[in-house]
Amino acid sequence: MAITVYNTLSGKKEPFEPLRPGHVGIYLCGPTVYKPSHIGHAVGPIIFDTIKRYLTFRGYKVTWVVNVTDVDDKLIDEAARQGTTTVELGRRVLADYLAAMKKLNIGYPGDDRAPGDLRTAGGGIDHMPKASEHIGDITRIIQTLINRKHAYVLGGDVYFDVTSDPDYGKLSHRSIEDQEGQRELKSGDKRHPGDFALWKAAKPDEPDEVKYDSPWGKGRPGWHIECSAMSARLLGETFDIHGGGMDLVFPHHENEIAQSESATGRVFAKYWLHHGLTRFNTKKVSKSDTSPEAVAAMKRMTLHNLLAELTPEHVRFFVLSTHYRRPIDFSDDNLEATKKGLERFYTLFERVQRETGRSVYEAVDRAGPLGGSGSSGDPGSEHHAKFVEAMDDDFNTAGAIAALHDAVSPINALMDRGGATPDDVLSLAGGLMQRGRLLGLFLIPPAAAPAASDKKLGEVMQVLLEVRQRLRKKKDFETGDFIRDALTRIGITLKDRPDGTDWKVE
Ligand SMILES: [Zn+2]
Repeated sequence: MAITVYNTLSGKKEPFEPLRPGHVGIYLCGPTVYKPSHIGHAVGPIIFDTIKRYLTFRGYKVTWVVNVTDVDDKLIDEAARQGTTTVELGRRVLADYLAAMKKLNIGYPGDDRAPGDLRTAGGGIDHMPKASEHIGDITRIIQTLINRKHAYVLGGDVYFDVTSDPDYGKLSHRSIEDQEGQRELKSGDKRHPGDFALWKAAKPDEPDEVKYDSPWGKGRPGWHIECSAMSARLLGETFDIHGGGMDLVFPHHENEIAQSESATGRVFAKYWLHHGLTRFNTKKVSKSDTSPEAVAAMKRMTLHNLLAELTPEHVRFFVLSTHYRRPIDFSDDNLEATKKGLERFYTLFERVQRETGRSVYEAVDRAGPLGGSGSSGDPGSEHHAKFVEAMDDDFNTAGAIAALHDAVSPINALMDRGGATPDDVLSLAGGLMQRGRLLGLFLIPPAAAPAASDKKLGEVMQVLLEVRQRLRKKKDFETGDFIRDALTRIGITLKDRPDGTDWKVE
């Protein structure tokens, strides 16, 4: 059975055949780091982390790139408003974003979890290039475009000439004549209103840290060219999957294609996967409402607050409960419905533990991930087949979750009837959990469940902290730090206070 994907470029589902057999390169447009992440920023990473987990399960070696836009008008304006530098603001916002990725069990470069950590295995971002660190790559492509007469210099700016590219509009299915949405329309000297900036000349009031040298004078790159440069650097001039939100199809992705294909003469990305946008339909808030209640409700939308309120697993389950191409309705009703759906699985796993005396999580941890070509696990089961069929069909996570739900009742029925061996029950529940893990779900017991082991963990931590204290008294800071770092790697952070040490599980 083959995987099919809906390709925005062709407007239909196509068999998925990567350029290099066995390898997949994915580029997802990442955050512009100027304000705290909200639920919308988590949608792309959750979806593509899940796609990567599934492709890994199907035997592919996947390289996933998410860029960071740290040079941008919005960043410059917001840094000025806050009286800080773009570098400091970008660093702070990126740290907030990565903290959310960590909670969502999405790995990233510099993640302090050990390689192969169960929570991130099979998924995770491999590269997070920053625009500010690829100025050389960017200016080289711009120069190539100028040499090939696809771009022209105007003052200190450089513009892409859309009329030079006969394919312009092929992704968004628009003609050049209806390019009214372009941001740079105000510049009256451009050859065509649809021409977009590749390089923007530095303005006198801009901070020095965003003024980069170029053959056209000091300035900074336009947004679109960043992605063309960084994807080529990390995945090659042609790669398999380019992803992003539907709102990026035009002009961002259209412009990326125009730049890259005009510069290289090759296909830029083979498959274009666009996810639906988040629609806010909570009873408590409308975007135009500025009352204190509405402002408080909007604050809830920040990813940080949302992850504290809903649990990261619930956020992930909520996002994956809708097919990625459809809009996600962020409403109290939907949040409540998905919470109930998720709890149904927790209740099953708790019951299995009660009746068999063994934790499903531990049994699955020992068995390891479903592997390789997708042939392990319980391939004979109709639920497994349904799950694979849904995921093969354009990564239909909603269908895959429905297949998980279908498996719950038979396991309960088996326990109701009695007479099944603990191994039989565990094997079925374990199979269900392993499939869930391909979606990044059920990786660790929900926060409420470890309560039984909390007491023991507390006692063990007391012993460890006492040992660390004694080492430090003997001036053996190295071993003391080893204990702290080893704990950090498994997700327990220590905080030293004057009168002792606090610890918490991240
Ligand atoms: Zn992009």
